[in-house]
Amino acid sequence: MQKIVQKFGGTSVGTIDRIRNVCSLINKELKNGNQVAVVSSAMSGETNKLVSLAENFDINKNKLEFDMIVSTGEQISIALISMALKEIGLKGKPLLGWQIPITGSNDFTKAKINKIDGKLILELMNNGEIPIIAGFQGIDKDNNIVTLGRGGSDTSAVAIAAAIRADRCDIYTDVDGVYTTDPRIVKNAKKLDKISYEEMLEFASLGAKVLQTRSVEMAMRHRVTVQVLSSQTGKTGTFLTKEDEKMENELVSGIAYSKDEANITLINILDKPGVATKIFTPLSEANINVDMIVQTGSENGNKINFTYTVSRKDLEQTISIMEKNKIDIEFERIITNNSLAKVSIVGLGMRTHTGVANKMFSALASKNINIHVISTSEIKISVLIDEDSIEKALNSLHSTFELDQK
Ligand code: ASP
Ligand code: MG
Repeated sequence: MQKIVQKFGGTSVGTIDRIRNVCSLINKELKNGNQVAVVSSAMSGETNKLVSLAENFDINKNKLEFDMIVSTGEQISIALISMALKEIGLKGKPLLGWQIPITGSNDFTKAKINKIDGKLILELMNNGEIPIIAGFQGIDKDNNIVTLGRGGSDTSAVAIAAAIRADRCDIYTDVDGVYTTDPRIVKNAKKLDKISYEEMLEFASLGAKVLQTRSVEMAMRHRVTVQVLSSQTGKTGTFLTKEDEKMENELVSGIAYSKDEANITLINILDKPGVATKIFTPLSEANINVDMIVQTGSENGNKINFTYTVSRKDLEQTISIMEKNKIDIEFERIITNNSLAKVSIVGLGMRTHTGVANKMFSALASKNINIHVISTSEIKISVLIDEDSIEKALNSLHSTFELDQK
């Protein structure tokens, strides 16, 4: 007998029919002799509706009320799942965050989970009942409802799996696993059987929207085995696990991309200590996330250029912050581009193999794709290219790194 957390949400619980389908996935696990705890997020579209309702008022003045409103989508879906379970003769118990309790930090709209008491969940499971827990929510030390950030039910599910020491946390979605790259762009993209936490963390933070990034961090920290699979088919999906020797030989496991890039170049800055902090302090104060950064070299006394990227929605604000600080930063002019995309190859093998970057650059060169900015980490190489080259770039990198042969 295994203890399994099953997480559903969005389109998987989008209609009553789909909720009945979820119940058959729960029943299947029970028939396999396993114990199940369910975590659900809201029905598809619900949270967006609730957000727009709340946005009729000033959110900054109403953070407590905002979380109280947007957390209600889950209350509906867990009760519906419980009703549908009853129809097929199973006993469920819908539970909100405070009933467990799931305690979080008191940061409305982006609370972190501090503690989950697994006692009630385990008691129910041992009693042959199915706890159906609302994702995305918890309570803070003052008993206020707090939410965990958009997509936060993934993190709830993994945290609950860690708290009850579940054997597995199955996250059901509308895709059947994690792919070598976007199958809508590269026809022979392949589903991965498994992927390491470290690689998945890169994919998630690069914008591959399968899992909330924090849920991957949580799984890595607590060594929770996570499976991403389709609620339509219920077929074996992709496992997130700790790395093994075989994975280390994998040069590149997948290619991610993001179209949400804009870059800013500050021209002719006087090269002296403190320049970088003058640029980035006002941006971080405005909560603008900077991603890639390049500073050109200079001969003594010469001027330099500084290029960095932000997400497109932040471009306008970034420009106005730069203009406001022009005298302090001492740059001559600013150039911007917001039709860029970032393409990243990710793989554990990069730690120990050389020549991966050059293989990437020469593949792109052979397709006449110009690289604007490059950045690397231990297991990732990212390049900034023109947005309209994405298709060519993904296809050429996918075959260069033989991902179609996985
Ligand atoms: N319902 C919440 C959202 O839409 C949480 C989740 O889906 O995981 O962001
Ligand atoms: Mg989600």
